[in-house]
Amino acid sequence: MIKPEPVEEHHALFRATCLRFAKERIAPHAEAWEEAELFPRALYGEAGAAGILGAGFPEAYGGSGEDVLLPLMAVEGLLRGGSSGVVAGLQSLGIALPPILRLGDEAQKRRWATPAIAGDAVAALAITEPGTGSDVAGIRTRARQDGGDYIIDGAKLFITSGVRADFVTVLCRTGEDPHGGLTFFVVEKGTPGFSASRSLKKTGWRASDTAELAFDGVRVPAANRLGAEGSGFVNLMQNFQGERLALAFFGHATAEIALEDAIAYAREREAFGRPIAKFQVTRHKLASMATRLMAARALNYQVARRVAAGQVIVPEVSMAKNFAAEVAVSVTHDAVQILGGMGYMRETRVERLSRDARLLPIGGGTTEVMNELIARYGLGL
Ligand SMILES: Cc1cc2nc3c(=O)[nH]c(=O)nc-3n(C[C@H](O)[C@H](O)[C@H](O)COP(=O)(O)OP(=O)(O)OC[C@H]3O[C@@H](n4cnc5c(N)ncnc54)[C@H](O)[C@@H]3O)c2cc1C
Repeated sequence: MIKPEPVEEHHALFRATCLRFAKERIAPHAEAWEEAELFPRALYGEAGAAGILGAGFPEAYGGSGEDVLLPLMAVEGLLRGGSSGVVAGLQSLGIALPPILRLGDEAQKRRWATPAIAGDAVAALAITEPGTGSDVAGIRTRARQDGGDYIIDGAKLFITSGVRADFVTVLCRTGEDPHGGLTFFVVEKGTPGFSASRSLKKTGWRASDTAELAFDGVRVPAANRLGAEGSGFVNLMQNFQGERLALAFFGHATAEIALEDAIAYAREREAFGRPIAKFQVTRHKLASMATRLMAARALNYQVARRVAAGQVIVPEVSMAKNFAAEVAVSVTHDAVQILGGMGYMRETRVERLSRDARLLPIGGGTTEVMNELIARYGLGL
């Protein structure tokens, strides 16, 4: 079988911790949680206590210490539970906390980062709106100053963990400049005028909650503003690099599980008097799946290690995200084919992964948007 990517010992140990958590606490319930379209809130506390939610965050707030690879080890390990939705939901702090940690003052970091890392509070990041996704400069949710407070009006869409989030890191418009007029705020659950107006039904990632959020005259003090007015866009671009790398790791990790399930099935399932693994067409399909997976994983690790070394490599991160997403979609598609009718049944992990994988070329920036970044910043076009 394909061996895991060699990593430093502390990364391997952490990956093993996440894998154990996935096998004991996620895998036995994955199917039921997918059907229920929710996993228990208590899982955040358990993952916090196991040190999983603190991966890569500063020790001062309960994290493991800053480290680019650790949260990626968490993705690889946790996905072994067989539910991308659980991993996305548990790790929504991975996109919600960085703006707080980069822009916030000490009090803000202690107030929001510490409980989220402990698993006592659920955090979400709200950028996308009903009227705009890829075009972040088109954000219309507005925060206008009123004495010492801000009043926020608008709506956000497709927000992971938004329904049960205790606080949401929200990108708002504070000025007219398309990019320079954006600012992050934190809005806490229970603030009058703020509501998670609906939980959305999805193709995959079913165990995660995905919300539409409404902001109707939501008054927050200036202490909920992160950094100076206008600092949001640059920080969002930094945030995207971590998110896209994580989604790239979702890609190869998803393909790896699908490949293993397809191999196991091909060994067992017989047709025309022999295991289907003996048909050359199946063997070659599996060989091709393994090759694509290895290529995606190699690219992902190479890019992750360069980011960990401090390089700012927007085109390469975009390439890794695009390639791994494509591999996840194609390998899970092939795995379903190898399982035949069983691959179309909700009881199989391959069926679930094939639906989950479809999110990867869309979430965190679409394939087309990644290609624009590659063309502009990588090719100078
Ligand atoms: C399950 C799920 C979870 C999510 N979680 C979050 C979250 O936690 N927080 C959050 O803020 N958002 C979240 N999102 C939103 C996600 O990031 C957006 O869906 C994504 O960025 C695309 O935006 P859009 O859906 O508005 O598509 P659009 O921007 O409307 O794009 C539609 C199509 O047009 C194409 N397109 C757009 N611009 C261009 C261009 N310049 N050139 C070529 N083609 C273009 C796109 O590639 C796409 O094919 C989530 C989405 C999903 C489905």
